[in-house]
Amino acid sequence: MKILNPAGRSATFVALTLVAGCGPQPVAAPRIDAAQSTAAPAESAAPAKAAHAHDEWWCGEHGVPEEICGQCNSKLAAAFQKKGDWCKDHDRPDSQCFICHPEYEKNFADQYVAKFGKQPMKPE
Ligand SMILES: [Zn+2]
Ligand SMILES: [Zn+2]
Repeated sequence: MKILNPAGRSATFVALTLVAGCGPQPVAAPRIDAAQSTAAPAESAAPAKAAHAHDEWWCGEHGVPEEICGQCNSKLAAAFQKKGDWCKDHDRPDSQCFICHPEYEKNFADQYVAKFGKQPMKPE
């Protein structure tokens, strides 16, 4: 037992030194990179996934956050109409009608910029 202890300790020490020496160094980093670069093309769902992520918060079509887009969500549209916030000419919430209120577009775009650090695509 007395012999095993120091031997075990030094073996552990050597193993730890090796692990510590190799672990955080180049060995680990390229492995992660390789895994990611091989995974991305293999899945090929990457572009769709990115587009989906945008859709979740931002309605690129209408230039407003999706959760308040009165043109995509008929329930929201009804709520906007109930409030009297509705542009009959353009069939959308008046507070989201950039045709009548071009200045609103920037307000919503600013929210996008604050979140993603870049300008959203121009709504059509
Ligand atoms: Zn929309
Ligand atoms: Zn309008």
